[in-house]
Amino acid sequence: MPYQLDNRPLDLRERMYFPEILKGIGIVSRNFFKNLFFSRDANPDVLARDRRLSQNATLQYPEEKVPYPPGYRGLHRLVPREDGRPRCVACYMCATACPAQCIYIEAGEYPDDPVEKYPVKFVIDEMRCIVCGFCVEACPKDAIRMDSGEHAPPSYDRAAQIWDEKRLLRGPAVSYQYDPWLRRGSPSIPPEKLEEMRARAKPFPAVATDEASQTPGFSVRALAQEAKERASR
Ligand code: SF4
Ligand code: SF4
Repeated sequence: MPYQLDNRPLDLRERMYFPEILKGIGIVSRNFFKNLFFSRDANPDVLARDRRLSQNATLQYPEEKVPYPPGYRGLHRLVPREDGRPRCVACYMCATACPAQCIYIEAGEYPDDPVEKYPVKFVIDEMRCIVCGFCVEACPKDAIRMDSGEHAPPSYDRAAQIWDEKRLLRGPAVSYQYDPWLRRGSPSIPPEKLEEMRARAKPFPAVATDEASQTPGFSVRALAQEAKERASR
């Protein structure tokens, strides 16, 4: 409900001010002591908190955290395959697309596979990153995502914001039926693992879905369609 302005003239008690000042001090003190000594509802959804316990809607970060929405572009992760290796084939497309030039890659070859490449070094400077998501969109292998739901953790040390392949490689494994290492087989993957990966592989969607755009909940096509409909109204 919009705020209603009360324009009535002040009565005598209000014109004396002191009772109103005492009333204000009383309200502030009551809430101060309530918040100081009584238990509080720690529900991260601050608007849904039980106001009988406390009026305090402040989030006690970092002990309390609000989950970010699904489309949130969070901290990067290198998507692993089921055998624990990165899906990344060190093609440099993400590094080329990155406007902040904060991705550094060194490509290497698997010793037992003459075809596949992998990133011997894959480093992102999260301090320089402008969180644009271009790297995710540029990747042809769905090998880098920003779906971790976290932001880069704060640090006192500049070097702690340099995330290398060991820190970046995490999260659920992903396999697609079109993955070349699954289609032709790879000497670097044990046969039983290869079968497991083939069984888990899913088709890569022909039409971009939220998953194909790699930031669940965020779809460029859906947003473009929405804008088009708004413009035609
Ligand atoms: S989100 Fe943007 S700035 Fe950050 S690494 Fe990816 S492309 Fe570069
Ligand atoms: S993350 Fe994707 S775009 Fe970047 S080097 Fe690896 S495969 Fe290429």
